[in-house]
Amino acid sequence: MNAQTLVIETTSTEETRELGARLAPLLTPGDVLALVGDLGSGKTTFTQGLARALGVTSPVTSPTFVLINRYRGAGGISLHHADCYRLNHARAEMLDAGLADLFSGDDIVLVEWADRLAGLLPEDAIWIAFTYLADDRRRIAISGGRRAAAVAGELTARGGAP
Ligand code: ADP
Ligand code: MG
Repeated sequence: MNAQTLVIETTSTEETRELGARLAPLLTPGDVLALVGDLGSGKTTFTQGLARALGVTSPVTSPTFVLINRYRGAGGISLHHADCYRLNHARAEMLDAGLADLFSGDDIVLVEWADRLAGLLPEDAIWIAFTYLADDRRRIAISGGRRAAAVAGELTARGGAP
């Protein structure tokens, strides 16, 4: 992860979903979101808000039986949702599942526990780190390269923290 570009605190589940929803329209084809943080820190919650704002109507849960879930949003957008939590050999298993091909494609790809992928992520991934602060409070930090800076800049311009 590179320099931190934006830090936000949310005080409820819905606020974290709302942050995901605000980020969704700022994404461009091929963006990769690398989510990191402990169990229960809010990664899936954030993903639910993001997916909803992309027009996904089916319920978003962490992938269990398949490694990567694909959701269709509005206007032909595809969102791929991967979760490395249960994997013993995340990098190899995700390579087998075709994640590297998705990274070089034009769909939006979101990976929970992305820090387990050891170097597989593209240089321009948007890293989003979740930290548990208290029951309902989470710290959410966006960092990375050019795309992370662009997204963070737009979020700030549109009102900063939710
Ligand atoms: P992860 O995917 O990181 O394991 P989840 O999003 O599945 O975490 O779970 C987060 C849990 O914490 C949910 O039960 C959610 O309702 C709760 N929660 C409470 N406050 C917040 C908050 N501010 N942001 C995100 N989740 C929160
Ligand atoms: Mg999760």
